[in-house]
Order: sequence, then C-alpha cells, then structure tokens
Amino acid sequence: MTSKNKQAKLQKNQEVEGEVIDITYEGLGVLKVDNFPIFVTDALPGELVKVGVTKVLNNYAFGRVIERIKTSPDRVENEHKEMISSGIAPLVNLKYDAQLAFKQNQIKELFHKVGIDDVEITETIGMDNPTQYRNKTVVPVKMQDGKLTTGFYRRGSHKLVPMGDYYLNDPKIDAAVGVVRDILDKYKVSAYDETTREGTVRYVMIRRGYYSHQMMLVIVATKIELPHEKEIIDEIHFALPELRSLILNYNPKQTNVQLGLDNRTLFGEDVIHDELLGLDFVISPNSFYQVNPQTTEILYKKAADMAELDKNDTVIDAYSGIGTIGLTVADRVKEVIGVEVVEPAVENAQINKAANNIQNAEFIANDAPTQFIEWAKKGIKPDVVFVDPPRKGLTSELIQSVGLMAPKKFVYVSCNPATLARDAVELIEQGYKITRPIVPIDQFPQTMHIESITIFEKNDEN
Ligand code: SAH
Repeated sequence: MTSKNKQAKLQKNQEVEGEVIDITYEGLGVLKVDNFPIFVTDALPGELVKVGVTKVLNNYAFGRVIERIKTSPDRVENEHKEMISSGIAPLVNLKYDAQLAFKQNQIKELFHKVGIDDVEITETIGMDNPTQYRNKTVVPVKMQDGKLTTGFYRRGSHKLVPMGDYYLNDPKIDAAVGVVRDILDKYKVSAYDETTREGTVRYVMIRRGYYSHQMMLVIVATKIELPHEKEIIDEIHFALPELRSLILNYNPKQTNVQLGLDNRTLFGEDVIHDELLGLDFVISPNSFYQVNPQTTEILYKKAADMAELDKNDTVIDAYSGIGTIGLTVADRVKEVIGVEVVEPAVENAQINKAANNIQNAEFIANDAPTQFIEWAKKGIKPDVVFVDPPRKGLTSELIQSVGLMAPKKFVYVSCNPATLARDAVELIEQGYKITRPIVPIDQFPQTMHIESITIFEKNDEN
C-alpha cells in the first residue's frame, strides 16, 4: 500500500507556483511541489505557472493555470481550448514543429530509461496540414435537456459537452454526425443512460474512405432494432449521399468496449472500400483500420523500404488487421503469412487478397504469440517479420519464438514507444540489434501518440 496523503499540506483551491517539468501521456503539464506531482491542463514544459489546485489524491493532484508567469516559446494561442480539456487534441497548444521534436525526443528518453543509448532517432515525419486527418470517429450520445446530444466527455467526468467540430476529423464525418443525431432525435430515439441502464443509442461511429469517399455509419445500440427503423433508414440514406453502409451494432453490455460483435446491415453493404498504396481494401465495422490514411501510406512505404525486401523472402505480417502491410509488400517477396486475432478482420484480409489478385499471401486467425510459438515449434523460418501490435506491445513468448525462428530482419511498427523500448531489450537478448535510426511518423498530430518504425537485424556473430 502507498502511504496515504504524503503531502496532506496540499489542499483543494490552494495556489502554488512552479515550473512545468514534463508532460504526461494525456498531455497534462507536470509540476512538482516538494516532490508531489500536480497535473495541470494547458501547461507546457518550461513554463512558469501559478496553479490553483482542483483535486488532491493520495499520490498526486490536479490543477488549473491561474497565471502564466513565463510562457513557452513553443506555445501557440488558438481557440481550441476544449480540445485540450476533452483530451481529443491535448497538444493543440504546442507548435507543430515542437510536437514533432517532442515525439522524437520522447523515443530517445524511453530508450534511455531501459538502458539503450546507442540508438539514433530521425526527425519525426510530419504532415503538411496536421488537422482534419482522421477517417473515423466514435462519438458518444446522451440525452441532454430532453434532446439527443453528441459531444465529448470532459476528462474525468460523465457530463457530455456538446461538440460539432472535432478538429481532427474529416469535416464530412463531423457533418454526418450532426445529420444522424438530428434524424434520431426527430424520431425520438433515446440515448442510453449508464446509470439507469435505459435508453437505446450509445455511440455513432463513422468511417469515410479517404480515396473512395465511401461512408460507413454504425449506430451502436442496446436494442436489436430501432424504433421507426424504416423511416430513419430512408432519411439517413437521403441526407448522406456518400453512405454505402448503414449498420446497427448491438452492444447491450455494461462495458467500456464501444462496439459489440453483432452487426445488422440496415442499408447498403456490410463493408466499405478504401485504397492504400494503390490497393483496394474492404473494411468491416469491427476491423482495425489506420485512422490517418495520409501518413499510413508513408508509414507502410517507409517500413517496407527500410526492410530491404528480397524476391526470395518469406514474410510474416503479425497483428495484420485487414492485411494492409502484408498485401502492400506481397509483390516484392516470395510469400506473406499474416496473423490477426479479430476474425472479421481476417475475413476482410482474405477478400482483400483476392480483390487485388494476390496469390502469395495467407492469413491466419489466431492470437499472435500463440501462433509464433506454434511456428517456432514447427521449425518455420521466415526471413522477415513485421509486427504492428496494439499499445501493450509484444509478449516475451512472442519474442522468444522470434529468437528460435531467427528471421534475419524484424520490423517493429509501434504505436507506443514505452512498450517498444521494453521489447527492444528482449529482442537484443535474443541476438538482435537495431541497425538503422528509428523513424517516427506522426500518425496522430495534436495528440501524444507516437508511431515509429524500428529495424532489428540478427547479429551475424550469434
Ligand atoms: N497492421 C494493421 C493492424 C495494426 S493494429 C494495420 O496497419 O492496419 C493492431 C492489430 O492487432 C489489430 O488489428 C488488432 O485486432 C490486432 N491484435 C490485437 N491483439 C492481438 C493478438 N493478441 N494477436 C493477434 N492480433 C492482435
């Protein structure tokens, strides 16, 4: 147990002054008073601030800026303050160049923390226009003053704040959210209430193909049918000419998971199409698909180039989603084997393979670590392994299996440098070394998320 209230001195509403020394994963500035951390909204490293304490917990407190005594030269003033409090774009107050430098430096520091200092990080590859890049949104829905409302939850609160412009979304998506909300409200469809567990609609999810402009709308609901369903379908169809797929997703559980697994197509197709690097991809509601299509093309191209693929290579694409990485490199290698745990995503990958006339790829639905252990037991010897895991990174079992299979190259596409650095230590123990500078690519401008590519190669001496 942690000692309770090590700094009982700190009180709510108290005012303290200090320099912001760091920034948290949520984009909050960190201030320390007698070693006790205070997390402050809209405070940048290097700034000297007077802070009002808003909440005191055992090991840390929260605060808000009352006065900015010294302002960071990297601060940008803009009207997007709610982007910070909502957590949607917590870095919106930091100049874009400084965001890119911050991300590069963050990787360096995280590697330093695990004892890896002999690694170079290139400058972060950024976007020319780092706003309105997202091809997907999931917006919470609540009743407010008797009206169906879409918006965001302020950090740590359950009160929905109405919002129409999400700043990072493709504007066509934001407009469609408003259209759908108004139609649902017109037909008196209720919003789900977490407390009473009554009401119907939980979220509205929209995806729009960057190249195809095809739109998928998913209404996440606690019922298997909407009231006035036919009228609602007709009105939405009429109001959204780009709509290709309208889906009712059934999610009755008390859970933070936004989408259930049960989808019913109300209008159009079960999937939408989009393109990446000239290939055609179908995407189902439950499949992962990169949210920044512009930088994703750079990411995949860069990862493939850095891997220096060879016509004779057998390539594994682990955490393969709908098969995007594997299928975009298939023409440069002998064969591709993908593994992905979400079955609808694997089904999409099979369709994508056929739709693009690719013969030399196969996709397996399985937990990646389990599959790696199996492959290692069977003596499978890939030449190159791509991994693109979720934020929690790889497992030791997977990395040990890599050690046994001994591919000459291991390409780590990471969305979390903390787990990347942790895994790098184990990969090095398995006889790998980082042979090129790590390349960060800004997949998520204005947020704390950091994407990067690292190439590990088998040490020849081992
Ligand atoms: N490479 C793909 C997907 C990357 S996202 C792309 O760029 O689009 C990470 C993927 O890992 C998701 O599709 C997720 O469903 C999958 N995943 C998560 N846990 C997994 C596990 N234990 N085994 C296999 N795949 C997993």
